[in-house]
Amino acid sequence: MTKTEKKRGFSVPTVTVLGVLMAACAYFFIVQIAQDSLRPAAWIVAGYFLALFILLEATGNIALYRRIFFVSCALLFFPSFMAGLVEARGSISLDAREVFLNRTPFCHIVIPLSIVPYLLKGVLVFPARLSNHYASAYSMIAIWLFATLTIGRGWCSWACFYGGWDDGMSRFSGKARLEVRDPEKRLRHFGFAVLAFSVLAGVATMTSVYCAWLCPFKTVTEFGSVTGPSSYLAFIIFILLFFSLAIVLPALTKKRVQCMSFCPFGAFQSVAGKVSPYRVGIDPETCVRCGLCARACPTMSIDEAALAAGKPAVLSTCTRCGECVTVCPKRAARYFFVWKKGCGQDGGRMAGLRERLGQGGRAGRFIAALLLAAEELLSPRALLTTTGFTIGMIVAGSFATGTVARIMHLLATGSFLLGGAP
Ligand code: SF4
Ligand code: SF4
Repeated sequence: MTKTEKKRGFSVPTVTVLGVLMAACAYFFIVQIAQDSLRPAAWIVAGYFLALFILLEATGNIALYRRIFFVSCALLFFPSFMAGLVEARGSISLDAREVFLNRTPFCHIVIPLSIVPYLLKGVLVFPARLSNHYASAYSMIAIWLFATLTIGRGWCSWACFYGGWDDGMSRFSGKARLEVRDPEKRLRHFGFAVLAFSVLAGVATMTSVYCAWLCPFKTVTEFGSVTGPSSYLAFIIFILLFFSLAIVLPALTKKRVQCMSFCPFGAFQSVAGKVSPYRVGIDPETCVRCGLCARACPTMSIDEAALAAGKPAVLSTCTRCGECVTVCPKRAARYFFVWKKGCGQDGGRMAGLRERLGQGGRAGRFIAALLLAAEELLSPRALLTTTGFTIGMIVAGSFATGTVARIMHLLATGSFLLGGAP
């Protein structure tokens, strides 16, 4: 492997510019919006996220640092979310009054499940806060719209806290104990079947059937109070789905089973995300068909048969996680702009000019460095990773601050709850 093939990180000027940009975002979206009493925790979270971002861009190891960031977001989200519910109403279980008063947080998974019933009957089947709160319908829909227009299904590898959980579990063991092959792509199609079923059942019953019966993450967010046989049955289903789809199967297969095969939002995002300008592709000219990318892909989005035949194809279920981009020894797997034919180069188009300038003394080297930085800053990799990181930070920032503040509170007072339960 040549030195160029090994070097994947951006140049120092590029990392500096991106780092300053991300520092401004971290300050604005985490520190500035935190209440005064939470500011110390907010500074810790902002500094931690910024350090991960700089490491990601400086080393080019997207797989490692994106994963640490993404899993951290999930780990910091759930304790804060549950503690917030306990502080507000004494429990993470919903009672009929909370639902009736639309005081439940809005979850992005129900966006596709709410659209059709709303268009048909003008009724929001998922009762939720519409405004005045971070986890309200309006703010989540605004973030989702921005994410869809920019990173598309990248939402599932940069912003979704459920995805962060699944990602973490899929990396729990060093090697897969259960090898999954899916030449017919049935596993990936199953997510679309769950989406279709959830929408149709939602229209038929005017309830959010997925939330009421099928969401594995109810176990670690909120669920209806157990008051009778049907709520007891739902509770059992949530526990079974959580342990099987979100713990055991990802750990055994090293694949993101829930995201790949069961999440209706992920399936929806595969379609909606086509408006995104970024894609992941494989250059057939440089690819040596080693198959490392397909094995590393946590959502089985690289068609193995097409790869072996020398006509690599990345499916719409790709979550832009960058595992294949990092693992490919030939840099054949890359991010690219959808309007570019093929899958482009990272900062390689002006290489000849830069080389000639570099031989022309100090001024020439300076201009060559500026050209390289400009090319890197406008590359799909820099734009996608910066946008993905920013969106993830916006989604997780206040929850992460809440968890760190509660840990500090726990160390100081012995109680994880800020202000105690009602
Ligand atoms: S890891 Fe790279 S070289 Fe190997 S099959 Fe994938 S794209 Fe081709
Ligand atoms: S194709 Fe590559 S970027 Fe897309 S999900 Fe698979 S590993 Fe991640």
